[in-house]
Amino acid sequence: MDLINYFNSRKSLILDEIRELVELESPTLDYARTSAVSEYLAPKFEEVGATVEFQSGFNGLHLLAYYTPTDAIEDDPILLLGHLDTVWPVGTLEKMPFRIEDGRAYGPGIFDMKSSIVLMLESLRFIRENGMKLKRPARFLLTCDEESGSHSSRQFIEDDAHDCSAVFVFEPSLPGGAAKTRRKGIGTYHLKVHGIESHAGLDPEKGASAILELAHQIQALHALNDFERGITVNVGVISGGTGSNVIAGHAEAEIDVRFWTRDDGLEIIDRISGLQPALKGTSLELSGDLNRPPLERTDQLIDLYRRVRTLAADLGYQLGEGSAGGASDGNFTANMGIPTLDGLGVAGSGAHAAHEHLLIDDLAPRAALITKILTEM
Ligand SMILES: [Zn+2]
Repeated sequence: MDLINYFNSRKSLILDEIRELVELESPTLDYARTSAVSEYLAPKFEEVGATVEFQSGFNGLHLLAYYTPTDAIEDDPILLLGHLDTVWPVGTLEKMPFRIEDGRAYGPGIFDMKSSIVLMLESLRFIRENGMKLKRPARFLLTCDEESGSHSSRQFIEDDAHDCSAVFVFEPSLPGGAAKTRRKGIGTYHLKVHGIESHAGLDPEKGASAILELAHQIQALHALNDFERGITVNVGVISGGTGSNVIAGHAEAEIDVRFWTRDDGLEIIDRISGLQPALKGTSLELSGDLNRPPLERTDQLIDLYRRVRTLAADLGYQLGEGSAGGASDGNFTANMGIPTLDGLGVAGSGAHAAHEHLLIDDLAPRAALITKILTEM
């Protein structure tokens, strides 16, 4: 049977399912609402033959659905990774309800990445109804705190991925539906500056301004930007001081650091840790860490991408590739040495933005591609 024709014939059913999922608002860090989506999806995965398990984290119930067919050709599993939380607060639906217009479907979280969850289910339904076989055991992990840093899901992601031959991440695709074969690593740091407080009118010379020191540090931090190498350092939030008539005794800053390679990451963190105060009487206290290591475009990833591109070509479409400055859960599995192909979500645009939408024409080819990944990879 022609896969794309089959999924095209189910297009309105697929859109109904997507609508239902989008209308279950699930802001990240909302334990009850994200867990409710896990509970909503569990029987749907069971209906298509999966065994389902909730992996309980402090941010909510992550959903693991898996198949261990006894007649699979290969032993090592693959992991299909996604998330069911969104960046949108409850009530967003009132301002940007699900709607279809000019071949696009709009709604909070539709592109990032609820539609892809529906396509996973669709493809599993097709495989089951047509008696097709999975090439390998398959796991589907849908987490509920990706948009807030995956603090309660990282351990589950790493446990569920550790014995897998490959990980496929259904984050939004790049323009034109291209996959992501490179993602930056991210570090988040907090710099506290301690100064000496004193009266700005009576004893100004006895003080040491933490705010002035922080101004020096901001200059030094921003001087570390190297756009050519893709190293970025941004002081995004600052605060400090107690009043205009007081030499500030404290000040602080939040810093975002990004880089393409692990070596660049280590180098930049070394340089940030080595910053020294410029003003006498002040001191620095740096905390924070590398939240996500980079997803590097390694030879094994290029090989994985090319294999999936061939499957897409069999279906009659071109799967491009590109880079992203943002990180995802794919960064964790890539860092474990497991080939991880990211950005496999349905084509669209506007993740985290008011015009978030997917391209309806891409639904059937995507579902077909997932089907081929499950049966041929
Ligand atoms: Zn996402």
